[in-house]
Amino acid sequence: MKKLETDIVVIAGGPSGLCAAVQAAEDGANVIVLEKAGVVGGAANMGMGPLGIGTKYQKRQMREVTVEKAFNMFMEYTHYNVDARLIRRYFEQSAETIEWLEEKGVEFEGAFSYFPKSEPTWHIVKSGNGIGPRAAGAMNRALYNAAAELGVQFFLNTPANKIVMEDGKVAGVLAKDNTGEEYEIRCKAAIVATGGAGANKEFILEKTGYRFGEDLFSFAIPGLMGDGLKMAWEAGADQLPVRIEMAANFEGIEELPEGICNVFLQPNLLVNKFGKRVMNEDHMQNATYLSNVVAHQKDKICYSIVDSSIVKYYVRNGIDVVSLVRPNEDVSDFYDGIELAEKTGNKNLIKADSIEELAAKLGVDAENLEDTIDSYNDYCESGDEEFFKDKRYMRPLRKAPYYAAAVRAGGYGTVGGIRINENCEACDKDFMPVPGLYAAGADSCNIYDDSYMFLLPGNSMGYAVNTGRIAGMTAAEYAEKNQI
Ligand SMILES: Cc1cc2nc3c(=O)[nH]c(=O)nc-3n(C[C@H](O)[C@H](O)[C@H](O)COP(=O)(O)OP(=O)(O)OC[C@H]3O[C@@H](n4cnc5c(N)ncnc54)[C@H](O)[C@@H]3O)c2cc1C
Repeated sequence: MKKLETDIVVIAGGPSGLCAAVQAAEDGANVIVLEKAGVVGGAANMGMGPLGIGTKYQKRQMREVTVEKAFNMFMEYTHYNVDARLIRRYFEQSAETIEWLEEKGVEFEGAFSYFPKSEPTWHIVKSGNGIGPRAAGAMNRALYNAAAELGVQFFLNTPANKIVMEDGKVAGVLAKDNTGEEYEIRCKAAIVATGGAGANKEFILEKTGYRFGEDLFSFAIPGLMGDGLKMAWEAGADQLPVRIEMAANFEGIEELPEGICNVFLQPNLLVNKFGKRVMNEDHMQNATYLSNVVAHQKDKICYSIVDSSIVKYYVRNGIDVVSLVRPNEDVSDFYDGIELAEKTGNKNLIKADSIEELAAKLGVDAENLEDTIDSYNDYCESGDEEFFKDKRYMRPLRKAPYYAAAVRAGGYGTVGGIRINENCEACDKDFMPVPGLYAAGADSCNIYDDSYMFLLPGNSMGYAVNTGRIAGMTAAEYAEKNQI
């Protein structure tokens, strides 16, 4: 067994762990990062950027979002069912964190909304490849370089497996690398930042009731098994609910040409297994709302339906609502996607020459579907009396062929589990800090109540980088006070 000593062990090198490590090292602590994967960055390597509130980008775009506005929006959205002190500290710090990241070499494209009804809080990282998925990988690289320059030691492929407690305080962390080498690292403080349990089927079933791959289709990266949650709970931290960070999923068609998903995400007709409408489709771009709607339906499935004149309109004029996650507005590859789906027998994407045939292929009640489409076409003239959708998006479905795609409940992973306070100190059942134990990022993210807050986009990575910094600050202070 290798024996090492340091002030702080940061358990994991995702964005929260990286920010914790850099901040703690800037504050004078010696830091070791243990990372399970062969690379740092965690799920943020897939994403685009963190939230910032009151940033210079918003000011320049004359779309300022104040901390007061965001805080009030957030508290009302969550019914005050969250820690107001933590939210306030996170939001207050978020603009300065954008600048702090810039000092480390991170560049931003600007501040963006995720969909028309959201605020421009999403600070998309400049990656050299334009705006799109994986941009935030550049942020992780910059943070890793900053950490290395500050002398932070990284052990990759080395998952932590236990937090050692002595006299009620953190005294060390145990780990084992992928060659079987074991490590005991003596330390004053440990920061748990392992990103939740998004890849752990059994854990998700036990904590949330969802059956991964059956009624929940997650985007979570491999390796997120809830290790940090279990270690922190075992070390004395209180257990809070673990929830899915819901985001709807077009399972089985994501890999087809981009125009497919871009068309089916437009606010057209969405029906359930009974062939009935289920929402004002204006809100479909809010991936959490869409996922929640789907999760409430029979078999946790819905179908987004268009006819051939809607597709023709989009191909000619572009789509109604643009997604930065699928940035290509040109959907002329839609027909290639349909052809490919037909060739490969893709059951998640259906083409039919009549509504009756469509209903049969989807396994949906044909009479209901015909009634729904009739009424919907009437609402296109008179206004949406059922769910009050914006008239701009009311396009009738009259012309075969009809196309439908399955929409399922999905998630970025899990959020929450470890009780923390606004200083990111992990707390026990009596709300008292467990000496030397800190948590940040998804493992500690109980701030959304039951649904991810997409109206302030970038919230998830924003929470990770900001709580990472807070945990780094407080742990460094604690370690300094507790030097022998
Ligand atoms: C496809 C996708 C796109 C996204 N886009 C955005 C976006 O644009 N904006 C946004 O706000 N959010 C986005 N998110 C969410 C965001 O990426 C996460 O909220 C964020 O990465 C969480 O950070 P974290 O540090 O808590 O955990 P993670 O990023 O999940 O990192 C956790 C790390 O812990 C490591 N680990 C696990 N167990 C151990 C162990 N025992 N020992 C050591 N290491 C361990 C893992 O290998 C991983 O590196 C996206 C997520 C996905 C999946």
